Amino acid sequence: MESKIHILQPELANRIAAGEVVQRTASAVKELLENSLDAKARNITVIVKAAGMEIIQVADDGEGMSEEDALMAFQRHATSKITRPEDLEEIRTLGFRGEALASIAAVAQVELKTRTKEEDVGTLVRIDGNEVKEQAKTSAPVGTSIVVRNLFFNTPARRNFLKSRQTELKNITDAVTRIALAYPEVGFQYISDDEELFNLKPATSAARLRDLFGEKQANGVITVREHNEVLSLEGFVGRPDFARKQRVEQYLFLNRRSIVNRAIQHAVFQAYEHLLEHGTYPFYVLNLTIDPRCVDVNVHPSKLEVKFENESQVYRFVYSAVKRTLAANDLLPSMSLEVAAASPETARLRFGGGGMAEVTRPHVPPGGFHAPSPNDQIEMERVFRRIESQLDEGLAVPSSFTKELPREKIVQHQPTRPEPRRESEAEARAIWQIHNKYILSQIRTGLLIVDQHVAHERILYEKVLSNFENSLPSSQQLLFPQTLELSPGDYQLVGNLLEDLKKLGFDIKLFGKNTVVIEGIPGDVRVGNESKILQDLLDEYKHNEHDAKLEVRENLAKSFACKAAIKAGDKLNTSEMISLIDQLFATSMPYVCPHGRPVVVKIPIEELDRRFGRT
Ligand code: ADP
Ligand code: MG
Repeated sequence: MESKIHILQPELANRIAAGEVVQRTASAVKELLENSLDAKARNITVIVKAAGMEIIQVADDGEGMSEEDALMAFQRHATSKITRPEDLEEIRTLGFRGEALASIAAVAQVELKTRTKEEDVGTLVRIDGNEVKEQAKTSAPVGTSIVVRNLFFNTPARRNFLKSRQTELKNITDAVTRIALAYPEVGFQYISDDEELFNLKPATSAARLRDLFGEKQANGVITVREHNEVLSLEGFVGRPDFARKQRVEQYLFLNRRSIVNRAIQHAVFQAYEHLLEHGTYPFYVLNLTIDPRCVDVNVHPSKLEVKFENESQVYRFVYSAVKRTLAANDLLPSMSLEVAAASPETARLRFGGGGMAEVTRPHVPPGGFHAPSPNDQIEMERVFRRIESQLDEGLAVPSSFTKELPREKIVQHQPTRPEPRRESEAEARAIWQIHNKYILSQIRTGLLIVDQHVAHERILYEKVLSNFENSLPSSQQLLFPQTLELSPGDYQLVGNLLEDLKKLGFDIKLFGKNTVVIEGIPGDVRVGNESKILQDLLDEYKHNEHDAKLEVRENLAKSFACKAAIKAGDKLNTSEMISLIDQLFATSMPYVCPHGRPVVVKIPIEELDRRFGRT
C-alpha cells in the first residue's frame, strides 16, 4: 500500500507557520522593527499604507546584510543570532527563531534592499510568496529596507480575519509605541498613509515618554529605579490620579522586550494598594532587567510570553520596588473635606494631583464641614507635622518597607528609627480623644483627626504581614489557657491555618472533638479577649474568603487586624494615643486602612480661618 504520510512542501509549511509568527499586520511590523534593533539601528522609519495591508516598509541604518545573507535571511530557521543549543538558554537579542522573514515572505511580496558598510554596492532581493523573483546589485545606503506588499494575499482566511483598518492601524501604532518606549536612544519616524504620526528623535527615556504621551502624562509619573543583585526595575509609574479605566496604558518590558505577564501586572497593581479608585488601572512603563539565563523567552513564536525561573521572586521584587517608589514620592493621599453635593454620606479622598478616589466616610456632621466651593480644595502639604519631624530625623522611608524584603535586599540606605520621645515632650504635645473614637491633634498646618480603630488596623495589618515574612511573632503565653469549642468547619479551618496562626502569634493546640486550646496569643491582643478574637478572626476570614479572593495570609492579616484593633468606644490615655499615632506614621501607608477607608483627615488651618471669616 502506498504510504499516506509525506513531509509538507516548504512553501506550505512556511505558510502554516506564518500564521503563528505573523498573525496580523502589527506582528509583521513588530518583527521587522526587532530585526532593525538587533542590527543596531540608530534610526528607523516605518511606513504603512492601508494599515499595513497594502504596504509595510521598515528602513533602518543598521548593520545591513551581505548579498549571501540577504538571500539566506528568507530561509526558515535562518538566523545569525544563535548557533549552539546552549545559546537558547541565554537569549540576548530580540529575534532568535529565524522565522520572521521566512514567514512574512511566505504570505506577501517582499522587496529587500540592504548594504553593509564594508560594501560599496548593495543588494536587492525580490521575493513573491517564497519564490525569489529578482536578485541584483543596487545602490543603497548602509542599512536595510524591507517593503512588504499585500500581506496575506495568498491566505484569504487570514486576510479576512484582519479587523477594520482602524483597529489594525491602532495595533501597529501600539507595536511601534512599545518599541519606541523600550529604545529611547533610537530615532523612530512613523508614517501612515502619508501622514507622519511620530517623529521621535533619539532621547532619554523621560523625554521619550513626553514625546509619546505628552506633557500632561509625563508630569503625572514618578521614576522607578530599583535594583538588587539579580533584578532591576526601571521606568515610570503613574500617579494614582492619572489612573485609567482600562488596562491599556501599561507597558511592560523584560530586557527591553515587550511582554505580557499577569503576575507582574498583578504585582504592580497590588503595590498601589487602595490608592486607586475602584475599577481604574495605573499607567506604567516598566522595564525589568534580569539575567537572560533566568528567563525563557521561547514560550511562543510571538515571543510575548516569558517564563521566569523564579516567578515569585520577580513578583516580590516588582511589588516592593513599585510600592517603595510610591511611598517615597509622597503619593499618599491628601485629604480635603470636600463633601460632594450629591451625597452627604460620601466624602472624597483626594490624591496629590487632583484625581479623586471615592471613599465612604460614614460620619460627616450635617451642616458641619459642608460644601466648600471647588476652589477651596486645599492642596495639602501632604506631610503632616508628625511626618515632617520624622523626616528630619532621617525616617525618609518607612521601616516597614525594608522589613518586607528580607530576601531581596533592595539597595537603599537603611533608615534609623527616631529615638523614643521623652515623656515630658510627649505630654507637652496637644492630643485629645473625642467620643472615644477619634484622636485630635494639633499640627503645624492645622488639625489632624485620626480614626483610632482604622489607624490601629493599619498598624496591625503591616505588623502581621511582616511577621509572616520574618517569622518573629510576638506572642504572650496565657497563664490560664483557654478552651474553645468550634464548629466542625471552623475546627478544620484552624487546622489548615495553624502554621500561619502561629506566625501571627497564636499558640493553639488542636484537642480533638472540635476543641482547641489557646495557650498563647499575639502580643497585640488584650488578655481576656482571646477566645472571642479567635472566633471573630475565623468569621472574618470566612467572610473575606467568600467576598474577595484574597491570599491566605493577606486574608489572615486583614481579618486579624480588623478584629484585634482597638474599637470605637475604647478609651485611650495620652501615651496610648501618642504611641498609636507614632506607629501609624511608621507604616507604609498611614492614610488608608487595609479595606480602603481613610485613616486620617486633616483640616488645614486656612480652612478653619475661612470658616470663621478670618480671610
Ligand atoms: P531572527 O530575527 O529570529 O534571526 P528573522 O527571520 O527575523 O530571524 O531574520 C533572519 C536574519 O536576517 C537575522 O538573523 C539577521 O541576520 C538578518 N536580518 C533580518 N533583518 C535584518 C536587518 N534589518 N538588518 C540586518 N540584518 C537583518
Ligand atoms: Mg527577527
